[in-house]
Amino acid sequence: MRRKLAAGNWKMNGSRAALYELAKMAETLPEDPPEVLICPPAPYIAHAIEMVGPSIMIGAQDCHTAEKGAHTGDIATPMIADLGASHVIVGHSERRTDHGESDSDVRAKADAGLKAGLTSIICIGESEAQYDAGETINVLNAQLRGSVPDDIDPYRTVIAYEPIWAIGTGKTPTLDEIASAHAAIRTTLTDRFGDRADAIRLLYGGSVKPGNASDIFGIPEVDGALVGGASLKADDFVPIITALSES
Ligand code: PEP
Repeated sequence: MRRKLAAGNWKMNGSRAALYELAKMAETLPEDPPEVLICPPAPYIAHAIEMVGPSIMIGAQDCHTAEKGAHTGDIATPMIADLGASHVIVGHSERRTDHGESDSDVRAKADAGLKAGLTSIICIGESEAQYDAGETINVLNAQLRGSVPDDIDPYRTVIAYEPIWAIGTGKTPTLDEIASAHAAIRTTLTDRFGDRADAIRLLYGGSVKPGNASDIFGIPEVDGALVGGASLKADDFVPIITALSES
């Protein structure tokens, strides 16, 4: 059985004051919650860890591939682990687009996360043009081949399927489309990693809200969600966590 995961990506949003939302989330979690993760901006990781107890894990939104060195402004995975954070998101489409990250960059970052003892959340997803052209599954398979390291710990490897056109837009694929994308991802991972792939969790991301969470979490092979905007406020994120715990 894969443990469900509700992951929040705050992107470049928030403030020290906004971290009180974390305390509110921790206080209002459902009984027997799934794993809950928030990835605040890097300057707030340490404060966020102080703010919440063990019920909410804290992660980073990106990392460098190297353990240390002359890389001004970058963050090494051993530093993220040293703070007490547990996860790192790699290959988010905003990183791929804004910073030109390739699949091989993402793979090296995922590897760096795993080597530091973190769980690496590897994001993949098609553009709107690729979706319109019916290329979704081919794109996902190519990204999986390029972005997932060979030497994974399946228990600490998470794949987030995030159609780029669904991120922050209020648009989502149909439930059938999410189901076939997740089924295809699972098949591709099983072809490559055999039974070990069973432990890899698959998240859906892209405009998950309290109103659509239950339907999405009812899809087989959806083990949770990576949530952007709706993870900023406890009033939005806790209902999503609750829907996941009831799925
Ligand atoms: C994301 O940034 O990964 C995301 C899914 O954002 P949103 O939930 O706001 O669409």
